[in-house]
Amino acid sequence: MPQRPLLSLRPLSDASAYFRPDVLRRLAVFLAVVLPLVWLFVAHERKQLGELAHEESNRNVRNLAHAFAEEVRSSIVTIDLSLSQLRLSWLRNPEQFATIVAELNHNLQGQMRIEVGVTDADGRLVFSSVRGAPGQVDLADRDHVGSHLRGERSDRLFIGKPITGKVSGRWTVYFSRPIFDARGKLAGVIVAGIEPAYFSRFYSTIDLGHSASIALVRTDGIVVARTTRDLTQRDSGKLLTGYPYSPDSGPGGNFHRISRMDGLERYYGWRALSDYGLLVTVGQSVHDAHARYAEQRELLVYTGVAISLLLALAGWAALAASDHRRRAVASLAAAEARWKLALNAAGEGVWDYSFANRLVTLSPSAQGIVDLERSLVEFDRAIFADMAHPEDIATVLQALDAHLIGATPDYTAQYRTRLRNGNWRWILARGQVAERDAAGSPLRIVGTVADIDARKLQEEQIRHLAHHDVLTGLPNRLLFGDRLHQALLAAQRESCLLGLVFFDLDKFKPVNDNYGHAIGDLLLQQVATRLRGILRASDTLARLGGDEFVVLLPRVSGTPDVRKVAEDILRELNRPFVTEGFTLHISGSLGVAVYPDDAMDADSLMRCADAAMYQAKLQGRGRVAEYVAPAPKAEQDQQPSAVERDAA
Ligand code: GH3
Ligand code: MG
Repeated sequence: MPQRPLLSLRPLSDASAYFRPDVLRRLAVFLAVVLPLVWLFVAHERKQLGELAHEESNRNVRNLAHAFAEEVRSSIVTIDLSLSQLRLSWLRNPEQFATIVAELNHNLQGQMRIEVGVTDADGRLVFSSVRGAPGQVDLADRDHVGSHLRGERSDRLFIGKPITGKVSGRWTVYFSRPIFDARGKLAGVIVAGIEPAYFSRFYSTIDLGHSASIALVRTDGIVVARTTRDLTQRDSGKLLTGYPYSPDSGPGGNFHRISRMDGLERYYGWRALSDYGLLVTVGQSVHDAHARYAEQRELLVYTGVAISLLLALAGWAALAASDHRRRAVASLAAAEARWKLALNAAGEGVWDYSFANRLVTLSPSAQGIVDLERSLVEFDRAIFADMAHPEDIATVLQALDAHLIGATPDYTAQYRTRLRNGNWRWILARGQVAERDAAGSPLRIVGTVADIDARKLQEEQIRHLAHHDVLTGLPNRLLFGDRLHQALLAAQRESCLLGLVFFDLDKFKPVNDNYGHAIGDLLLQQVATRLRGILRASDTLARLGGDEFVVLLPRVSGTPDVRKVAEDILRELNRPFVTEGFTLHISGSLGVAVYPDDAMDADSLMRCADAAMYQAKLQGRGRVAEYVAPAPKAEQDQQPSAVERDAA
C-alpha cells in the first residue's frame, strides 16, 4: 500500500486563482497607496532637477555677465583713452590729426574701428575720419554733441544711444568728450563712433545654447548693443523698461523674465558698469537651461513607469501567493478539523508531537485517555519511560524507532499507561511522521490514542476462560497440556525428573445425589482450594473434568518424591469437608507416573498416571498407586501399546 502522509499541503494548481477578485481588489488598494508615493518621488526629483538647472543657469549667466562687463569696461577704457589722446593731439596738432586717427585705427589692428569726429563749440563738424565727409554738418542736435554744448562745463565721457551717423550713414554708438581751449572755454566736442556689433563679439565666446542673448544697456533702458543667435542688431537703440537695475541694487545679480525683444523666456545675469551708466545682461533661454536635464527628467518618468509596473507585478505576485497560501492553510485547517472530528467521534484522541520543542498537544479526548491534567505537555523518552508499564517500554520504543527511521509506514503500539490514581490503563497509540527536515529527521509526528482497557480485559477474560475451569478456577486440560509440554521440554533440557499425580474423587456421585449438585460444586471448589494450599507455587493443579484432577510436579528427585505429594493430597481429601453446614466425607484414588521412568512424552505420561489411578480404584480406592508397566506378553500375539513401549 502506498504510504500516504497524514498531513499534506495540496497544491492549488488552478491558475485562475491568481485572478481572483479579492486578489485584484487588494492589488488595487496596494497600488492606490504605493503609486502616489512613487510619482510624488518622481515629481520631487524632477523638480529638484529643474531647480538644479535653474541654479546652474543663474550661476553661468551671472559669471558670464561679469566677464562680459569686464570686457565692455576694457573696451570703453580703450575708447575713452583713445578719445583723451586724440583730443590732446587735436589741440596740439590739428593738421596731423587725420594721420594720427589713421595710426590709431592701424594700432587697434582691426579689433575695433573708431570713427572720429570733431566739432566746434557750436556743434558743427570740423573734422571727420569718414572718407568723403561733407562739410558744414551740424551735429548740435545729436545727444552726444549737444549734451556737452548744453551741459555744465565738466569733462565727462558721454555714451550715446545707437543712431545712424549723419556723416557715415551707419548704425553707430558714439562716445564723446568736450574739448576745452587753454583758457578752459568749450572749444568743441570730440566724438568716437563704434559699431554696436563690436560690443556683441563676446557672444561668440559663450556657450549657452541657441537662444542665448547678451545685451549692453544704458541704465536709462536704451539698448546699446544686443545679440542673439540670429545676430540681429535691430534691437539696439530700443528702450527697455523694467530692468532690475537701480543705484541700490548692487553690482549684479539674476532675474528671470520673458524677453521684451523676442518673447523668449530666459534666465538673465546682469552686471552694472555704474561709472559709465551701463549694465550688461547675459541670458540663457529657460528651454536651453533645462535641456541638459531634460533627458534625466525623461528618464525619471520612464523609471517611474518601470517601478509602477514592477510594483504592480510584484504586488500581484505577492498577494496571489499570500492568498494561495492563506487558502491552502485554511483548507488544511478544515481538513485537520474534519479528521479530528472524525477521530473524536470514533472515541479516539489526537496527539501532535513536535520534536523541536519536545511538546505534545493533546485533544480533549486524548487528554482524558492518557489521564493528563493539561493538553500541552512536555514529552520525551524519559517521561514516557516514567509513565508506561515497564514491561511495555521496550516494545513501544522499538516500534517508534522503526517508524522514525522510515522502516515502517506508521507507528502502532499497545501499552499500559499509568493513571493519576496509580492504576494502569491499556492504550493503543498510532502515529505517523507528518513533517521531516531536509536531512530526513522527523520534525513532527501526529497520531491517535484509544482506550483499549476494556478490550484487553475482555481478551484476558476470554483467554482465562479458554484455559481455566470455570467452577474451580484451576487450569483446565488445555492449559495443563501446555504446561506439561513446556515442563517436559525443560526436563529434557535440564535432564531432570518430572512427576504426575492423577486422581479422581471417591464416592463423589453420592454427594451430588444426597445433597444436590450445588453442594457437589461447592465441594469441588473446596477440594481445589485445599489442595492448592498444600502444593508449591511451581506445581500445577488442574481439573480435567468431573471429579478428575491432575498435578504436575516439575523437578522431582524420583517416584518416592511424587508418591509423597500424592499421599499428602490423599490425606487432605480424607479430611472431612464442611459445606453449607454439611460435613462431607470423601476420599480419592491417586495414580503416580514419573518422566522419564514411566514415559517420555506427555500423552503417554498422562495415560500412565491415569492407568495408575485406575489401579488405585481397582485396589479399593482411598490409596495411591504407582504406575507399573504391564508385564510384557510372551509372544507376538499381543503387541505392547505405545504407552507401554514408552514406559518400557
Ligand atoms: P467412584 O468412587 O467410582 O469414583 O464413583 P463416584 O461416585 O465418584 O462417581 P464417578 O467418579 O463415577 O463419577 C463422577 C460424578 O461426578 C459423575 C457426575 O454426576 C458428577 N459430576 C461430574 N461433574 C460434576 C460437576 O461439575 N458438579 C457436580 N456437582 N457433580 C459432577
Ligand atoms: Mg469419582
